[in-house]
Amino acid sequence: NDRPYAASSFLSVAISRVFGSAISGKSSERPELAKTAIPLEATISVLPCRGGENFLRRLFEPLGYEVSTIRHALDPKFAEWGESPYFTVTLKRTAPLYELLTHLYVLIPVLDDEKHYWVGTDEVDKLIKKGVGWLETHPEKEIITLRYLKHRRSLARIALAGLLGEEELEQEEPEATGEDAIEEKLSLNEQRLKTVHSLLREMGAKRIIDLGCGEGKLLRHLLRDKHIEMVTGLDVSIQALERAKDRLQIENLRPKDQARIQLLHGSLMYRDKRLEGFDAATVVEVIEHLDQPRLAAFERVLFEFARPTIIVLTTPNREYNVKFENLPTGKFRHKDHRFEWTRGEFQAWAKSIAEKYGYIVEFKSLGEEDEKLGAPTQIGVFTR
Ligand code: SAH
Repeated sequence: NDRPYAASSFLSVAISRVFGSAISGKSSERPELAKTAIPLEATISVLPCRGGENFLRRLFEPLGYEVSTIRHALDPKFAEWGESPYFTVTLKRTAPLYELLTHLYVLIPVLDDEKHYWVGTDEVDKLIKKGVGWLETHPEKEIITLRYLKHRRSLARIALAGLLGEEELEQEEPEATGEDAIEEKLSLNEQRLKTVHSLLREMGAKRIIDLGCGEGKLLRHLLRDKHIEMVTGLDVSIQALERAKDRLQIENLRPKDQARIQLLHGSLMYRDKRLEGFDAATVVEVIEHLDQPRLAAFERVLFEFARPTIIVLTTPNREYNVKFENLPTGKFRHKDHRFEWTRGEFQAWAKSIAEKYGYIVEFKSLGEEDEKLGAPTQIGVFTR
């Protein structure tokens, strides 16, 4: 985890708090001075540049900065590990201070290609406000906007329209990043939700808990199904739960439906009474986010204590990864994945816990099946 050490959206927040009046470019006593160009130099000790030095230069040079960089090795002791995405960057330009601070504020999270908070329409307004006067003419405005808004294309389109004064927009295909993008062609996520839902229906599950529910895509599917009485989502991430709450629009549901859904904050690492009393639990693309040595804790929490009659669990099939053209060899499908299993590894694990805790397990595959490599997603259906 590089978050405590690398420049990120946390630094942008710090800039806006510590240099709040400077970044606004206003001074009540000496307004002309705040607008005056002065020779400035900024050094960012550890800046993650996803997209490399070339991308860094494409962001700052069109704004008139002189850019110098030192690229850091992943580990200076092991040259064979290669380069890291981290640079020490110095930017020089004669400009008003508020411009430099604004450029840093917007472009640091763009280079990092990440944000520590949920991005919604507020963030569009912020970008339009901060981007006025430079972003609308920047040659990389599309990618800046897209990354700043965490790859939410619909928001990026609104922001660009706002910046360009509603001019006609070119439809440009953004670069693919992240798990969804890698699996996009197959629309695996959607297939996964449908398959898990229909498995639950076939088995007649009425009270369902979705463990590691994320932003609640499965919950939304299940909630629409009137055969299902109660839907609960649990996640360790408050951000994910807030997003789920947003997406499900719980406040706007009819009272009858409001009573059918609940969101819980909790961890699958700890025994929790709230997980008891469900017909079925789903664990969709979650176990690979848990540290492998701690899987045993999760197994006991779910299979020994919560003990639903049905458990539907999905995880990537690592063998299939070679088929994803934009996934470098040996890499996982998502940067938070701690492991990805072959079919053999998953089945051995699933059989051993089924036996240990008195369940029967059946395996299913999901997505386009390759004769040798199997399907992209593997499913274990546990019943007792
Ligand atoms: N099931 C969702 C999300 C999968 S991403 C979907 O298919 O779209 C994995 C989710 O597991 C994330 O939302 C993450 O916050 C959650 N997670 C990771 N560790 C967890 C833990 N220890 N307890 C509960 N949830 C966890």
